[in-house]
Amino acid sequence: MVAPDELAELLAEPYRVACPNGHTALRPAATIPSAYCRSCRESYHASELVDRRTDPDACKPYRRGND
Ligand SMILES: [Zn+2]
Repeated sequence: MVAPDELAELLAEPYRVACPNGHTALRPAATIPSAYCRSCRESYHASELVDRRTDPDACKPYRRGND
């Protein structure tokens, strides 16, 4: 999940946050703390979203800088 108070900050990073279906086409929703997935055409609460940097179940590894 993503902490509600961190959602806006994490959404500013490309591909950082994924929806429950693994999409990263997210943008802040009108009802914060939520994000809208353009692929699902659904809004998800922060608790449903995945922080791909810290979640080992994310489908692709999150790349940090030169790592
Ligand atoms: Zn989605």
